[in-house]
Amino acid sequence: MKHQMIQDLHIYNSLTRKKEKFIPIHENFVGMYVCGPTVYNNVHLGNCRTFISFDVVYRYLKFLGYKVRYVRNITDVGHLVDDADDGEDKIAKKAKIDRLEPMEVVQKYTLDFHNVMRQFNTLTPSIEPTATGHIIEQIEMILEIIKNGYAYEVNGSVYFDVEKYNKDYPYGELSGRKIEDLIANTRELDGQDEKRNPLDFALWKNASDEHLMKWPSPWGLGFPGWHLECSAMSTKYLGEKFDIHGGGMDLKFPHHECEIAQGTASNQCTPVNYWMHGNMLTLNGKKMSKSTGNSILPHELFTGENDFMEKPFSPMVVRFFMMQAQYRSTLDFTSEALLAAEKGYIKLMNALNLLDTLPASENSSQDVGKMIQSFYDAMNDDFNTPILVANLFEAVKYINNITTGKEQIKKEDLNQLSTEMKGFVFDVLGLKNEEENHGNNRLEKIMNLVLDLRQEARARKDWETSDKIRDGLKDAGIIVKDSKEGSTWEVR
Ligand SMILES: [Zn+2]
Repeated sequence: MKHQMIQDLHIYNSLTRKKEKFIPIHENFVGMYVCGPTVYNNVHLGNCRTFISFDVVYRYLKFLGYKVRYVRNITDVGHLVDDADDGEDKIAKKAKIDRLEPMEVVQKYTLDFHNVMRQFNTLTPSIEPTATGHIIEQIEMILEIIKNGYAYEVNGSVYFDVEKYNKDYPYGELSGRKIEDLIANTRELDGQDEKRNPLDFALWKNASDEHLMKWPSPWGLGFPGWHLECSAMSTKYLGEKFDIHGGGMDLKFPHHECEIAQGTASNQCTPVNYWMHGNMLTLNGKKMSKSTGNSILPHELFTGENDFMEKPFSPMVVRFFMMQAQYRSTLDFTSEALLAAEKGYIKLMNALNLLDTLPASENSSQDVGKMIQSFYDAMNDDFNTPILVANLFEAVKYINNITTGKEQIKKEDLNQLSTEMKGFVFDVLGLKNEEENHGNNRLEKIMNLVLDLRQEARARKDWETSDKIRDGLKDAGIIVKDSKEGSTWEVR
């Protein structure tokens, strides 16, 4: 247990609309579920932001010493084109267009997703279950909900009975919707006539002959409803009640509302203690949307092959940029903002590189303990990364002042500041030092200069200087080899 005893983490709970002190169900353990991607196309930047936000949540909980089981699913069946109960399955539709097996589509875009997540330096979840891998669990959950009286079968499909459920438990709490308003605002859609009430949603859908993805069930051949997989898989891996459920804001309704209803109807307890929702991205002040062309893919940002940005931006600069907004705020991608983030990122990395070379003094001119606590305070306040970044830059200023002799730091403080700063930057924010490559270029330039000077010394038969340089480099772990063609060097 590292820090959590003395730390006081508060999380904004979307369900109660309040910041609440985080108390896990089982001491020292956290169960966290995040709705993963539907793998039918390249992961877009907005989704990346959600997963990076929850990566930071996961990282900070681990940093505090919690043992975290982080489950993030892959949706590979059941997500229909209209996000509700109508239209084609998104994956099956893409498979038809590309003339592929649905599982080829799934494989292709799962790999793309993992690749982008790796570029952004996100940690892999503890478990990454797929919907098609949990058909049995989903059928069992439906049977339980039917047994408890909250679902009914019609023509091989099973629907959740929202009105019946709402008599016993509140429906709409998470999204703040009232069932009467929902009914008043719902149009009768084609194909919904099987439902007793337009608000009811499918747990299982009967599959027609031409349907590509279908499984046998007690109600005939069919496929599960989209909302069901998350309930079935979170129950299986985290239990009937777990600590944190996350996802993008757009999933609040109906997806998460339905998850609450399914979990409660099946297990007689509300499934989640803390609901967390990440906000959206905009591009140049406008909603990102493929159909209007106002959209950019992660790799287009990294390569610079896009119409929006002045230059390419590395994954770490983009990640650092995302940290400059709190996860519940919207974040606007513009060329200027990313250029500024790039400068900030380089400044931060330079300061971290300096940390190990700082001279220690008798005393410290700043209260380093307080400075470090400010890092925790920012993260304890609902993972407020922009405040953390601002506080880290206070430390950067201090570091730069120490190098110029304007301020001082004593040894213990320096060690502590170095450990904690690196912890927050690398382990919590999940940044990597991309400058290390530039560092190698720098070393190469310095070595060329040093070897030139040594060559000049040798030319004038100044063996003493030549040997001094060679021995000094050897001490620094750099081996110089002399030959007729000149000198070469390598890092030992
Ligand atoms: Zn989900």
